[in-house]
Parts: sequence; structure tokens; C-alpha cells
Amino acid sequence: MIDSKHEEYREKMRAFMLEKIEPVAAILDTEQRFLDEHMQPLTEMGLLSCLIPEKYGGMPVDTLSYIIAVEEASRVCGSTGITLAAHNSLGTFPVLAFGTEEQRQKYLPRAAKGELMAFGLTEPDAGSDAGGTRTMARKTESCWVVNGSKCWITSATKAFATIATARASDDPNDKAITSFILEKDWEGYAVGKKENKLGLRGSDTAFLHFDDLKVPFENQLGEIGHGFKQMLITLDGGRISIGAMALGLGQGALDCALKYASDRVQFGKPISYNQGIQHLLADMATEMKAARLLVYEAAMLKDAKRPFSRESAMCKLYASEVATRTATRAMTVLGSIGYYTGPYPVERIWRDVKLCEIGEGTSEIQRLVIARDLLKTMDAV
Ligand SMILES: Cc1cc2nc3c(=O)[nH]c(=O)nc-3n(C[C@H](O)[C@H](O)[C@H](O)COP(=O)(O)OP(=O)(O)OC[C@H]3O[C@@H](n4cnc5c(N)ncnc54)[C@H](O)[C@@H]3O)c2cc1C
Repeated sequence: MIDSKHEEYREKMRAFMLEKIEPVAAILDTEQRFLDEHMQPLTEMGLLSCLIPEKYGGMPVDTLSYIIAVEEASRVCGSTGITLAAHNSLGTFPVLAFGTEEQRQKYLPRAAKGELMAFGLTEPDAGSDAGGTRTMARKTESCWVVNGSKCWITSATKAFATIATARASDDPNDKAITSFILEKDWEGYAVGKKENKLGLRGSDTAFLHFDDLKVPFENQLGEIGHGFKQMLITLDGGRISIGAMALGLGQGALDCALKYASDRVQFGKPISYNQGIQHLLADMATEMKAARLLVYEAAMLKDAKRPFSRESAMCKLYASEVATRTATRAMTVLGSIGYYTGPYPVERIWRDVKLCEIGEGTSEIQRLVIARDLLKTMDAV
């Protein structure tokens, strides 16, 4: 389905992830420890600069290769997958797409060298309805002053800078949502404690609080009032990377179930001899393949600079629901041992994968996005 260049890239990524990431994935999860020791090897592989042009120090690859990298990372460690996806698609992309040359020169080389960037959109009162942001940016003579909070922000504890949205108007009817690049070291920028969550426990998720945060004018990203549109464009790309995470997590569960079904003997024969188990494996593999086709198609459309909003929502919706189902089926194949922490990763995958149905727009929101596009274009092909 994909050409030899991309197959080679996958093999390279697979070997790297198996050598460097897989051996400690379970430990990161159990200890809720961030992947600090992984940052250098990931950076050297170019995985923190997948979208950053060489002139800013990046090692850019096309979208399909980037998606394969997130997939292979997630196949062994969901926490590594989400950290890569959030940094590249949500942290660095907006600077590249909407930033000035000065902003690119200031932030992208640091990101390419392995310093993480984050994306602050969600707020306690603005989740799916991200346009309802309550964070305020007030313009003074010398700078912007930002007040508000963002929640569930991936890598918030680590990121040196966050792309955040705020309402740049005192008029509640004029949302004028605007994006800013905010730096962690500035006075008034506070990071909450690392959240204790069901899965992806190796990735750091935390609140951000902005208290009279003084933001230089040059850190406004794009024009006043363009923040919401920028967010939609950013999420279109980000959703493909969540689809890729789902592919990796689902594949990890399927890999494990396939091997276990061949090894585990009950009633004097491997459980894979039973048609009931075979049907489970067949359904898992078939749905995963269909999900992969959707995710790769969205990536290829982006690479071809063709419209891909509908396809990115479809691939995220389908791949995340398939991967969740695949993890549950894998647990069925493994029986009790699948429910336990270690020696198999299925229990961890089962906890990790649910995020794919939530982050960057829930499945319900993806259905809204797809339906709106269908009804607008009246083209369902
Ligand atoms: C691990 C993790 C990492 C995250 N990382 C980031 C990050 O880096 N940056 C960031 O900005 N955010 C991040 N998020 C937040 C995430 O994107 C939001 O949680 C998500 O968009 C849903 O918002 P909410 O939780 O407020 O749910 P709500 O919007 O409160 O929705 C609750 C439920 O209602 C449903 N619902 C809402 N509106 C509708 C509707 N119109 N029609 C039908 N159903 C509806 C939803 O689908 C959901 O099932 C992260 C979340 C998690 C768990």
C-alpha cells in the first residue's frame, strides 16, 4: 500500500522504538515517569522536528513518514506517541504555519534541539466548545496582559513554550480569539501539578495558569481574531497524528494477541485452533487495516496539498474506535493475564487508547465535523 521509501522508514522507526523505547515503556507507565531519558535519542532521530525545515535546524519528513513515526512509537509506548504528536502537530506547526520569520527563528531551533512545545486550547469551561475560551488578553501600551487557565495540556510541565488562545477583547460578544506564544519562564506563567490519569501515564498532562502574564507584542501569533481559524487548521493536522497513535496502540494489542493465541494451550491445543479466537483475530486485523488506509489517505492528501479536513476527522474517528475495540478484543484473547499489569502490554494499551477518542475533539465532535462537511458539500463520496 505504501511505497518502499516509506516501508524503509517504518523499518527504521520500528527498530529504533524496539531498541530504545519498548524496554522501558511499562516502567514509565507504572512509575508515571516522563520520558526524559528518551528525549535525546528521539531528538537525534529527528522526531522532535518532523515538520521543521532544515533552515531552522529541523529534520523534516513528509506527513506520511511523520505519521508512521507516531504509529511505531505508539505501537510500543502510547506516552511517547502522544508526546511526539502534541509537540510536532500542535506545538511546532502553528509557529511554522502562522508565525513571523522572527518567531520561527526564535522558537523552532529550540524545538528542533529537543525542547518541547505545547498547545493550550482546552479550558475548564471550554472543552469541545473551544470557541468559548475565557482566557483574556488585554492590550496595554507596552504589551498584552493574559489572564486565565488551560487544562489537560500535554507536556505542560516540560514545554518551554505554549501556543495558547485567548479572547483579545473586553466585549463579551466579540470573541476575537487570538493566539499567543507564551514562555514558561515568564512571571505569571504557572504550571499545575502533573495529573494522575487512567492511561498515557508516562506523558505529563497539567493545568497552566496565567496570572497577569505580560506578553510582548511580538509574541502575538498571527492577526487578532484569527486564533479560532488557526486552531481549526492546526487540529486538522493533529487529528491525523491521533489517528496514527490509535493505529500504533491497536497494532500493539493485535501483535500481542496473535502471539499469545498461538502460544497458549488449553484443552490440549493452542487457543488459536478455536474458530471463536480466529474470528476475533480476523476482525481485529481487518478493522486495523481499514483504519490504516484511512489514516494514510489523510496524510497523503495533506502531503499533496489537497483538502483533508473531512478525512482527518474520519480517520481519527474510525481509527480511535477501532483501536479501542481491538484492545478490548486482545484482552479477551489473553483472558486474565491480559487484565494484569505485565508481562503483556494489553492492559496498558487498553488504558492508553481511550484518549484517542477524546483528545483533539471527541468522537461526537468528529461526527459533527464530518456531518457538517457532508451537508455543506452534499458530496458523500
Ligand atoms: C490525556 C489528555 C491530553 C490532552 N492534551 C491536550 C492538549 O495538549 N491541549 C489541549 O488544549 N487540550 C488537551 N486535552 C483536552 C481534550 O482535547 C479535551 O478534553 C476534549 O476536547 C474534550 O473536552 P472536554 O473534556 O471538556 O469534554 P466536554 O466538551 O465537556 O464534553 C463532554 C462530553 O460531551 C460530549 N459533547 C460535547 N459537546 C457535544 C455536542 N455538541 N454534541 C454531542 N456531544 C457533545 C463530548 O463528546 C463528551 O463526550 C487533553 C485531554 C487529555 C485527556
